[in-house]
Amino acid sequence: MERTLVILKPDCVRKELIGEVTRRIQDAGFRIRALKMVSLSEKEAEGFYAVHEGKPFFESLIAFMTGGPCVPMVLEKENAVDDFRALIGATDPDEADEGTIRAEFADSIEQNIVHGSDSPENGRREVAYFFPEHEIAAHS
Ligand code: ATP
Ligand code: MG
Repeated sequence: MERTLVILKPDCVRKELIGEVTRRIQDAGFRIRALKMVSLSEKEAEGFYAVHEGKPFFESLIAFMTGGPCVPMVLEKENAVDDFRALIGATDPDEADEGTIRAEFADSIEQNIVHGSDSPENGRREVAYFFPEHEIAAHS
């Protein structure tokens, strides 16, 4: 079954939306295989978003992602990567389709509530970044 790595970002936690967003994820048919709350160090956030190093928003993104606790989780579903990105909508909430999580809850292109892997290969890499295999449940 395909996996995707999701992060409920610090704005989601701060706005007390963990329950609301998780409900929508489960209602959409995703199975939660692992989940924890962590405060990312600068090094961890920079490593996770290394692909964006050098971009004008990089430093601000790292400050945002280290500004409070976040909730990484491993989700499983057929077509998990694409289906999750459809559920959350475009990066910029102003461009996100109506009814998507970002359209509904995100404040800006940066503070956009949730991360989802953008390919199955990156999903595998990102899952391993946060969770050793023994922390991932086979069933739930
Ligand atoms: P994510 O990787 O977090 O799921 P995404 O794939 O929709 O989001 P990316 O292009 O990978 O978008 O950007 C990673 C994150 O960097 C965005 O989710 C957002 O928090 C921030 N970001 C992206 N573009 C901008 C921008 N132009 N200005 C400010 N922040 C941005
Ligand atoms: Mg991305």
